[in-house]
Amino acid sequence: MKVNPNYNTKESLLELYNKPLLELVFEAATIHRKFHNPREVQMSSLLSIKTGGCSEDCGYCPQAARYHTDVEAHKLMSVESVIEQAKNAKSNGSSRLCMGAAWREVRDNKDFDSVVEMVQAVNDLDMEVCCTLGMLNENQAVRLKNAGLFAYNHNLDSSKEFYKDIISTREYEDRLNTIDNARKAGITVCSGGIIGMGEAIEDRVGLLLSYMEMETPPDSIPINALVAVEGTPLENQKPIEQWEMIRMVAMTRIAFPESVVRLSAGRTKMNMEGQALCFMAGAGSIFAGDKLLTTPNPEFNEDKEMFKILGLVAKEAFAEGEKPVSKPDAIIDARKEKERLRAIQLEEAKVSGFEPRKVTVN
Ligand code: SF4
Repeated sequence: MKVNPNYNTKESLLELYNKPLLELVFEAATIHRKFHNPREVQMSSLLSIKTGGCSEDCGYCPQAARYHTDVEAHKLMSVESVIEQAKNAKSNGSSRLCMGAAWREVRDNKDFDSVVEMVQAVNDLDMEVCCTLGMLNENQAVRLKNAGLFAYNHNLDSSKEFYKDIISTREYEDRLNTIDNARKAGITVCSGGIIGMGEAIEDRVGLLLSYMEMETPPDSIPINALVAVEGTPLENQKPIEQWEMIRMVAMTRIAFPESVVRLSAGRTKMNMEGQALCFMAGAGSIFAGDKLLTTPNPEFNEDKEMFKILGLVAKEAFAEGEKPVSKPDAIIDARKEKERLRAIQLEEAKVSGFEPRKVTVN
């Protein structure tokens, strides 16, 4: 993933961001056409596989346990329900499924084993699988990669300087480490930000500068507008103008010509014309489906209509990389073997009339 050498300083990016809007969009559109098919936009679906009850304090997030929001906490979905939802998303045109769990970090437990199974199953459906599960160590990243994970999402959200105004329960450095672990395991990186949290333009630029400091910048960069949710510390934040989204998309496209820029949360506050300018300025993906984890999003049908009017086509899966091969997972296989033996014991006990010795299945 390349960085545009003409825009790799704070000053040049600020100048770019503040250009007359149509000039900025034109410059971004020119670069977009060089590196991407401008008619193709990927439809991705975001599924909350474990909702709410998170111990972190991200100021924008209704899933943090400490805030009083309308979000109902749910434990981890079953593998079967995830497969059903993935099939539904695929039949509606999505070629990528992003599974989100409201965790501070991944723990090596049964829930993570289930996530590994989910990754295997969705990869088998020929969809790009992305996960956003919080902090991740190297071993966990390797397990996900072996299961067939295509991308790991871990947003930096904003500049290093502004980050501490929004989140106090972890450091910017923690985010960078997780991104590094995913990268080392050979998983593509999806990392972006949120605008409209009260940050300065310098912080939007600062986010991109953080990605420029990486050895390899993210393969995809989601740009979100804050959806201010009642009960969160940012509940009174005024919605940003859609022109700011267009500027941010265009600046990101120009700065990282090869990455996929994803027009993510906040589309419900944009009209079709505003979204069209984002596509022209280089947005190559949207999230489809009426929910983005817990916040509202346009319906599948509305997006299909928009694609028809704008002459856009949904991008196929793995247009930007090879489909990972799912390999067997030793931990899951061992658990299944234990469960199989236990079932045999129970069957034998039924026949003989004896209670079987208790085997604990971890
Ligand atoms: S954004 Fe993620 S880590 Fe932060 S509170 Fe929400 S669920 Fe937790």
